[in-house]
Amino acid sequence: MHDFKYASPESVEDVCTLLDEHGTDAAIISGGQSLMPMLRLRAAQPECLIDINRLPDRDYVELTDDEIRIGCLARHVDVERSEVVEEHCPVLAEVAAEIGDMQVRNRGTFCGSIAHADPSGDPPVLATLLDAMIVAETVDGTDWYSGDGFYHGFYETDIDKNTLVTEVRFPVLDDNQGTGYEKYEPSEGAYPVATVGAIVRLDDGVVTDVGLVTGAVEPGPIRIPEAEDHLEDQEPTDDRVATAAELAGENVTPVGDHEGTPEFKIEMTKTLAKRALDTAIERAGENE
Ligand SMILES: Cc1cc2nc3c(=O)[nH]c(=O)nc-3n(C[C@H](O)[C@H](O)[C@H](O)COP(=O)(O)OP(=O)(O)OC[C@H]3O[C@@H](n4cnc5c(N)ncnc54)[C@H](O)[C@@H]3O)c2cc1C
Repeated sequence: MHDFKYASPESVEDVCTLLDEHGTDAAIISGGQSLMPMLRLRAAQPECLIDINRLPDRDYVELTDDEIRIGCLARHVDVERSEVVEEHCPVLAEVAAEIGDMQVRNRGTFCGSIAHADPSGDPPVLATLLDAMIVAETVDGTDWYSGDGFYHGFYETDIDKNTLVTEVRFPVLDDNQGTGYEKYEPSEGAYPVATVGAIVRLDDGVVTDVGLVTGAVEPGPIRIPEAEDHLEDQEPTDDRVATAAELAGENVTPVGDHEGTPEFKIEMTKTLAKRALDTAIERAGENE
């Protein structure tokens, strides 16, 4: 590891001042589950490491104004075990429970994952699918970003590196909305190779709103409008859902790597999309 300055400020203002002073030579560390390996491998060599773990009262997962608000020090495990999440947006807990292994979930933060924008990350898929609101601070004040459209490829987002994500807000789901989330991991605790998240609203047995987002197969979460359009305003028969899932696979452009060829990832996307949509439709139907 190379030498760097270490700071552990106790206020958001001090974090922002340090980020402003050091610009792209600074790095925030929250859970350290992605950054620590990068530091050890010298893939990241910040001049100043800004540890945000001493910020007070930032580990909340709470319900406010019909939104689930997740503070920047809430760990994946806090999301997994939150009663508020379980009641109002259970897909967040389902996904958090399957991130990495127990150490990763105990230390890694949900907001850190949103900010880090790892192409294989699960929270960015949810932020896109559910159009979360991302709250960010700089020395110039607070900014709010829409989760749908926040990601722009390999580790690229709407925010600069000198920005602190303080909170992410997810909408509370209505009774007639259901979600499904599926991923393929080559081994237990590994990063996913392909993921699909789906959300469906049913009114009188007809799909009146649908979202389908893939992750890991391209350098960021991708919404698949071709699959969504095929289901919108339609009865979700098995054939129609199967065709929408096919469309999901046909509209991703995966990069082949040691985990699989592009063809494999396309087929995997189709399979996961079918399962995610089936689950979302079933759940939406249960409470319609
Ligand atoms: C073995 C292993 C398996 C994993 N498997 C999965 C998986 O299946 N799914 C998945 O989604 N993730 C997985 N992860 C990643 C894990 O979810 C991390 O917790 C997450 O990517 C980053 O969160 P962190 O709090 O640890 O961030 P850190 O490692 O502390 O930081 C990561 C990056 O984000 C920036 N950052 C952190 N917090 C903020 C903030 N509040 N505002 C602005 N920038 C910030 C940092 O500057 C840094 O560049 C895995 C990690 C490991 C080690």
